[in-house]
Amino acid sequence: MKEVEIGPIPLDRLAALLSPERAERLLTEAGAVQKVMDGRTLWCVNATATGGGVAEMLLALLAYAHGAGIESRWLVLDGDPEFFSITKRIHNHLHGSLGDGGPLGPAQQAHFTEVLQRNAELLRKYIKPGDAVLLHDPQTAGLVDTVLDAEAFAVWRCHVGRDEQDEVTDLAWDFLRPHLERTQAFVFSREGYAPSWVPQDRLMLIPPSLDPFTAKNAELSPADVDAALLRAGLVETPPDSGSLTFIRRDGSSGEVRPHQGLIQTGGKVPVGARYVMQVSRWDRLKDMPGVLKAFTDAIDAMPPDVHVLLVGPDTDGVTDDPEGAEVLAECMELWRTLPDEVRRRSHLVCLPMDDTDENAHLVNALQRRASVVVQKSIVEGFGLTVTEPMWKGRPVVASAVGGINDQIVHGESGLLVQDPHDLSTFAGLIADVLSDEEYARTLGTGARARVRDLFLGDRHLVQWAEVLQRLKDL
Ligand code: UDP
Repeated sequence: MKEVEIGPIPLDRLAALLSPERAERLLTEAGAVQKVMDGRTLWCVNATATGGGVAEMLLALLAYAHGAGIESRWLVLDGDPEFFSITKRIHNHLHGSLGDGGPLGPAQQAHFTEVLQRNAELLRKYIKPGDAVLLHDPQTAGLVDTVLDAEAFAVWRCHVGRDEQDEVTDLAWDFLRPHLERTQAFVFSREGYAPSWVPQDRLMLIPPSLDPFTAKNAELSPADVDAALLRAGLVETPPDSGSLTFIRRDGSSGEVRPHQGLIQTGGKVPVGARYVMQVSRWDRLKDMPGVLKAFTDAIDAMPPDVHVLLVGPDTDGVTDDPEGAEVLAECMELWRTLPDEVRRRSHLVCLPMDDTDENAHLVNALQRRASVVVQKSIVEGFGLTVTEPMWKGRPVVASAVGGINDQIVHGESGLLVQDPHDLSTFAGLIADVLSDEEYARTLGTGARARVRDLFLGDRHLVQWAEVLQRLKDL
């Protein structure tokens, strides 16, 4: 188990973006929770410090909690490849997919428990009675008893799920349930994601949020965007005077490094070209190949200056996601089957994971430069990759699945495709947005307003404050 350092961020910074009523509510709740947590520590435990939406959110939320005077610490558990392939299988099952098709039987249960026992020994040394420990996602489920035995409070926060439970999701829940029976509070992103055995009085619903000030979401001028993408070797832009600097989580500044070889196929995006993009982990359920296929099958309907970009992390850098290299290879294989002129307009990109802040800055620049952002997930817990471009005023075309339904109001704050397998409808909606600037602008404006109203950190922090205040009554 490793600790990730968290620097404090003052709540005032977030409050400055909000209406006076919202700012006051945030500061009042923070004051109340600070009293409750006095002398106690707020712990978050999850499986990775980089890559994916959970790490993204923890970075910001813990920093604000720390800034509000609550002692907040973050631990990342250790596992071996076998452990992560079991937990990835559980993750896929919770989304209704069999994943690699392997079993979730007694042998997997034994290995899962053994790895978590090793982590539990370390966790025990960190926590003290009265602390609140937020355990994130299936990987941490086996730590509940350790937390309770230490007389701390155990909250299990599950970020994944699907609205309909079936025999596949039941397999994962049967695996996890024995570990979770004693959990004092369960937090899910949507009501349908909770299995029926979770007691209603211990169930809380908290959708995710984004932080407007991280390197991922901070404002950038078009010149800064161009400078970053040119330096990273992603997009050819005319030389200009944009800044290469970004602010790191710890407040220091960084500079985009020159990179070679981030583009796996298709060369750099040429000067002046527009692009449609999906940024995701290389996870089968994000359906990166489907994005490539939807775009390239309909290439004749796309304006000739438009390219497609599939962007994901360098697959060596994400230890808790063993599926990544396979999915990337499948995309490369599909790309190879395309005619030359289509290949030139289709780019697969792997972003470096050795510097989380630079990675975030590059995602920021890519999202801002995109003409349309796509999220063609087959299932999706929430989808920060939808929230992020929405906040940047980009038009988003996404599958109407899971938490994406909470984010996009079709025709107002983006476009939804009801059947995530319907490639031609996807392509048709993308082409509509690309060919009508006014339409694109209207969807982008609606998107930003929707995120401002519902998905900024203050709402999220206030809800967590409510959870922490309830714990004291347990
Ligand atoms: N992400 C990133 N670099 C990448 C790919 C993804 O920083 O190369 C980020 C993305 O911007 C988002 C998060 O990973 O913040 C993905 O979160 P989401 O909720 O969309 O899905 P998850 O990966 O948690 O299933």
